[in-house]
Order: sequence, then structure tokens, then C-alpha cells
Amino acid sequence: MHIRTAAVQTLRENELGAVVPPVHLASTFELDPATEDAPYAYQRGSNPTRAQLETVLAALDGAEHAFAFASGMAATAAVFSPLEVGDEVILPATVYGGTFRFVDRIFPQRGLTGRYVADLGELTDADFTEHTRMVFVETPANPTLRITDLRRIVELAHRHGAIVAVDNTFMTPVLQRPLTLGADVVVQSATKYLAGHSDLLAGAVTTNNAGLAEAYALAQKASGGVLPPQDSFRLIQAIKTLPLRLERQQANAIRIHEHLRERSDVTATWFPGSHSEAEARIHASQADGPGAVVSFELAEDLDRVAFLRALRYPAFAVSLGGVESLICRPATMTHEAMAPEDRSLAGIGDEMLRLSVGIEDADDLIADLDQALAAAR
Ligand SMILES: *Cc1c(COP(=O)(O)O)cnc(C)c1O
Repeated sequence: MHIRTAAVQTLRENELGAVVPPVHLASTFELDPATEDAPYAYQRGSNPTRAQLETVLAALDGAEHAFAFASGMAATAAVFSPLEVGDEVILPATVYGGTFRFVDRIFPQRGLTGRYVADLGELTDADFTEHTRMVFVETPANPTLRITDLRRIVELAHRHGAIVAVDNTFMTPVLQRPLTLGADVVVQSATKYLAGHSDLLAGAVTTNNAGLAEAYALAQKASGGVLPPQDSFRLIQAIKTLPLRLERQQANAIRIHEHLRERSDVTATWFPGSHSEAEARIHASQADGPGAVVSFELAEDLDRVAFLRALRYPAFAVSLGGVESLICRPATMTHEAMAPEDRSLAGIGDEMLRLSVGIEDADDLIADLDQALAAAR
């Protein structure tokens, strides 16, 4: 089944033939008094609607196990949950701001170490110690859209007994399926492209590793950050249009990137594969497209605030992946938890802007960017 079909048809087998799955709101279920068991007992541990969503998430990623959480960060926390005192995680300096905050503030409390490397592309055997338990990857990276060779990281990490976790929020399974490239676990903020309408917070974890799956089920049950049934249902419905939305968003983003790159008053642009030929080749070998986020920087003599005020369509707001375009300034918004030195190590300049391209008409978006650039002069 192709992913466009899987997004729509995965849940079609149900007893009433309903083309839309039912929502089960019960927090508790009657048990058989003899066995004191039932397929579902209590909502935190499992719920039929959440289980249906998890079936869809597993199908999209080609995974045996999927877990839905109340946010992308709850999902990321679950990915870190099997780590033990003394363990070390290697992360790229460009990691998502919330993940950076977790590593910065929560890791020390748990006796864990996060070790940042400026460029995962330059990771070598010498970067691994006997304590390295995980390499955490985001490719394309946020907001620099730099590319990491997933197969190479998997090979390196596995040689040193470390697992590879991939935050696939920017690509979604429509464009990139890290488990098929050997990664051990995939985490996504479903708040972004999967939900797609800027109206729902959710997270997803998928894996083919039974031991890890047990740890993530425990994270759901023991920590309780699970996705409620109504939100699970809404995410099931949203995912049906994910491939369509992303195809349009990506086509728009490709045109906008080309347009901004040509403008002399835009001094830099960032887009998957734009950093170097080598990164373009790697991205083409592991993903089916660049996605729909474009970062750029205005020429120094342009007034950034005037530009942002003049934009009619992209809202100045954090987040991404929704049908409506959004624009933000990573240094002060999504990545403000990072120290200025760390941001500079990661290549995130104070003036960089990150545009999440929506499904609007590309001509309208380009005309809007052009008039705002004129207003910024
Ligand atoms: C938004 C985001 C997260 C966190 O997800 P929430 O749903 O906001 O908790 C994690 N990783 C990436 C890449 C993100 O963009």
C-alpha cells in the first residue's frame, strides 16, 4: 500500500463498516471477573481510539510499534526514558529548542549527559565513549536545514552499541522513513505536519525494537502524558490529508526558495540540500523531497520589523506545518533557550527568519513576500 492510500485506508476494517472510526471516551472498562482482564482496562494504559491512531502511525512509518503522546516533547521525553544514570547522548547543536531545553535542564537531574557536536556529518568513532547510548538526529536540522547522512550515523552508532533516534517532524513519513534506513526509533511532533491545522498538540514515537517498545509503553503508563481520545480521533482524520497537504506545501516552498535566492535583498537562504552538493546527494538518497520550511536572511539595510509587519499572509508565530504559512525568528523564538555561543555554533544567526510554507497559492505568497521586502526598504 502506498503512503497516500495508507493515510486514508488503514482503519477501514471495523465492525459497523463505518468509514470514520468511532471515538471511545471511557476512562475505564469492565473487566471479566474471572480473569480480571479485558482488551482495554484504563485509558492511560490504552484506549481503543488512541490504539487506532497508533495503528495508522505504525503503518505510515513501516513500524511494528507506535505510541501517541500528548505533545512532541512528551514523545521526546519518552524516547529518552530508557536512559540510565551515566549514559551519554550525542546531539547536533541545531537540535529543536525544546529538546535542547530538556537536555540542558532535565538531563543533569537524571545523571545523563548530552554532548553536542557542531556537525553530525563529521561524527567519527572517536566521538563515542563507553557511555554513549544514543545518537539523536534531526535531518533536515531546524532551522538551518542542514542534512545528516542517516545510514552513516546508524552504521557508526551501532558499531559502538548506541541506538539512533531520529526527530522526523520536518519530513514526516511521507518524505522520509528513518526506520527503513536502520534507525531504532522515530519521534515526531504531530502538532506540526501530521495535525496540519495549528489546532492540536500531539507527539508520536515509532520503533521496530521490542525492548524499546516496552519502555515507551511504560512511559505512557507510568508518566501518563498520553494523547486523549478526541485528539487521537482528530489526528486520525488530519493524517488522511497529510500527503496532499505536504505535496502542495513542498511545491510552494520550492518556488519560494527559488524566488528568494534570486533576490539581491535576501542575503542568504537555507533549504534542504542547498548547503552543498554532498548534502543534496545525501538528502536525495534518504528522502523524497525538501519539505516545506525555508529559512532566509534579509540584507542588512532592510528593516526586519517593517518586513514582518508588512506581510499579509504568513503570521509571525512559532510552530510550523500547518495549512497556513507562518514565519518566525529562531534566535529569539524557537531557539531562545540556547546560549548565544551555542546558537552561533549551530549557525543560527540573530537575523535568520524561518518560513513554514502553507497551502495558499504560491503566486500570492511570493507577491506578499515581494511587497513586504519593498516595505522594509
Ligand atoms: C515542535 C517540535 C517538537 C516539539 O513538539 P511539541 O508538539 O511542540 O511538544 C519537537 N521537535 C521538532 C523538530 C519540533 O518542530
